[in-house]
Amino acid sequence: MLCFVFLLHITCRGFQSTMIPSPFALGATLVASIVTVHYAHAATDSLQTTLVKPARAINGIAPTTRSYWMRQANQALADVLGTPCPFAAFGTAIVNHTGHGLGNLICIGANTNPETGNPTLHGEIAAIQNCTSILTDPKGPYNLTAAESLLAFSQLSLYTNAESCPMCASAIRWAGFKEYIYGTSIDRLVGEGWAQIRISSMEVFRQSFDLASTTRLMGEVLANETDPYFLWQYDPDYRCPSGCARRNGRCKAH
Ligand SMILES: [Zn+2]
Repeated sequence: MLCFVFLLHITCRGFQSTMIPSPFALGATLVASIVTVHYAHAATDSLQTTLVKPARAINGIAPTTRSYWMRQANQALADVLGTPCPFAAFGTAIVNHTGHGLGNLICIGANTNPETGNPTLHGEIAAIQNCTSILTDPKGPYNLTAAESLLAFSQLSLYTNAESCPMCASAIRWAGFKEYIYGTSIDRLVGEGWAQIRISSMEVFRQSFDLASTTRLMGEVLANETDPYFLWQYDPDYRCPSGCARRNGRCKAH
């Protein structure tokens, strides 16, 4: 059940056209790239913290719904990798919010660098590849052409349990997602010992103004639940994520 609004026509799969989404979706392709900053706090806060913890409905989506899908991004770890505590615990869920209700999951992805040997398969890239395959599968529920698939991303929301690296943030902007929602920030990852390329998603978005699409950015959503997936790796005293326990210093699934 998925509807996509394109510039000149509407494609609906298993849905009445009356279920088609908000004017925002149509307008999204008509304006220059912008980043909206919510809930600015004290003047001393960083740009990252100005994005923190949206407490109200954005684009008509309730915070509880955001939390639900962020938990699905966490759950992608177990669904893809078979463990809730892989070392590179980066999970993604891509969702269609253009209908009513909770939204529809299109695909998931998780960091599969170690499993595949492909250094670009971060969770977000893996998910984008998975979604592309699902959207264009002639025997699948959507059966979109390549051109339709490219346009479809402007109707989708990407939830990832940690802020995207600049490679993935760039892919998100190239895809033209409607929304990008992350949990744990790069600042937090770096502070906890993770090696990162220190370019924030805010900066990538700020420099993507040539692109015709718009992507709404929401940061540190449900970070209290995403953080534990990234805090045990470099802190031997930090508790393992639920479902895991320390063995030889490393969190492993029970
Ligand atoms: Zn990445």
